[in-house]
Amino acid sequence: MSDRARPVLVVANRLPVSKSPQGWVPSAGGLVTALRPVVEDGGGAWIGWDDDHEGVPAQVDGLACTLRGLRLSGAEVQGYYHGFANRTLWPLLHDLVVTPIIEARWWAVYRDVNERFAQAVDDELDADDEQTMVWVHDYHLMLVPAMLRRRRPRTRIGFFLHVPFPPPELFARLPWRGALLDGLLAADAIGVHTERYRDNLLRTIAHLVADVEVVGDRIRTADGHEVEIVVGPISIDATGFAALATDPETEAELQDLRTQFGDRRVLLGVDRLDYTKGIPNRLEAIEQLLTEHPEHVGRIAFVQIAVPSRDDVREYRELRQQVETEVGRINGRFTHPGSDVPVHYLYRGISRPALAAYYRLADVMCVTPLKDGMNLVAKEFVTVQHAADAGGVLLLSEFCGAALELGGDAVRCNPFDVNGMSTMMDHALALPPADRRERLARMARRIHDHDVFAWVDGQLEALRGRR
Ligand code: UDP
Repeated sequence: MSDRARPVLVVANRLPVSKSPQGWVPSAGGLVTALRPVVEDGGGAWIGWDDDHEGVPAQVDGLACTLRGLRLSGAEVQGYYHGFANRTLWPLLHDLVVTPIIEARWWAVYRDVNERFAQAVDDELDADDEQTMVWVHDYHLMLVPAMLRRRRPRTRIGFFLHVPFPPPELFARLPWRGALLDGLLAADAIGVHTERYRDNLLRTIAHLVADVEVVGDRIRTADGHEVEIVVGPISIDATGFAALATDPETEAELQDLRTQFGDRRVLLGVDRLDYTKGIPNRLEAIEQLLTEHPEHVGRIAFVQIAVPSRDDVREYRELRQQVETEVGRINGRFTHPGSDVPVHYLYRGISRPALAAYYRLADVMCVTPLKDGMNLVAKEFVTVQHAADAGGVLLLSEFCGAALELGGDAVRCNPFDVNGMSTMMDHALALPPADRRERLARMARRIHDHDVFAWVDGQLEALRGRR
């Protein structure tokens, strides 16, 4: 079998399918689009939690790979997913923007569930299969590489971390820090988005794991195993988004939005309602903008699309309350009777054509997370704007992975500095049109040249192993 055609088995928290009224369908996200050819070509498989849907089929129309849905009990979902993954690891890996909860019971369940995933992979592979490469995704499954290595000493195992990796002083606060690092180190390749995350991970390993040797991007563990850290910023299906930009459905949505917003200039935020995204700080910056520049009142609108997320977790419910209180306060202060409100708040997900229409409509796209592994919204906005020959500006937090690729041409801001962010919003609104178009063109070229398919190729090349 040629090296390119080696089957790939993907292991992720979620499966690449969702249930629609018509039955099971492949999910629409960029990651699934990019991984599809990879799992389909070699007759691969995908293992993931079934998300409490009984009877996920092994085959779904339009997706030529085997699906294995893992059923988790209520206690497992609670401890592994809502608990350890979302309330311990998520805030820890995002620089503790809220305090992680350290709970030994969750850790025990996380370990058990990771063991179940590793066993499911082992069951999926034939006894003598050394061809299939296993690609494990994200912070939910950090122990799986080591658990699988014990069962399959010769299998090639890759891991990709879709979130940031923090500096050693922060990671060291976790009581089970050593076990998680050992979990990762059993892989052959560990992928991260940026050089910063790679350096943090290497420094953390050197600091906390005994008898490792670090040479460049490679680590040799005490038992002689070698693992490479591979930097690869995830991206989007740029061609797909460029086509969506001028799709008839997008045009129709845009027409409606233009009628509604008239000649008001639009600042836009699109995020899951997550405390890492910095939505309250962004709203405060909008409030300052309207306070300090009264000439904008009635002439700008801020639209925040907040996609519901993890609303069974307390911190997320509290955030929603905080955001909705702020929206109410700002609209209460600045709305003139009979005129439109300054802040439009949508607490829901929207269709892809509607999303593309908002991207086209926006004069300033506010991507201002406190911490974000990459941020795909920024790349989608740039791609759509450029494809439609629009002239919007990207306002981009320096604390997201995308800032490394796009920071030079975006208007950069520090979301912790509300005054400064408000000044940058005003600056973005004032940029000359020719300058905006040049910035967009440079960013769009970079995204096009480093799309999600290039990201997959880079990661798999490392996983195939030149060692
Ligand atoms: N998105 C979506 N539905 C919406 C709005 C956005 O599916 O109503 C998508 C958006 O197109 C993007 C993703 O959600 O691909 C968000 O990815 P990002 O990296 O920005 O943040 P994450 O949610 O992964 O932290």
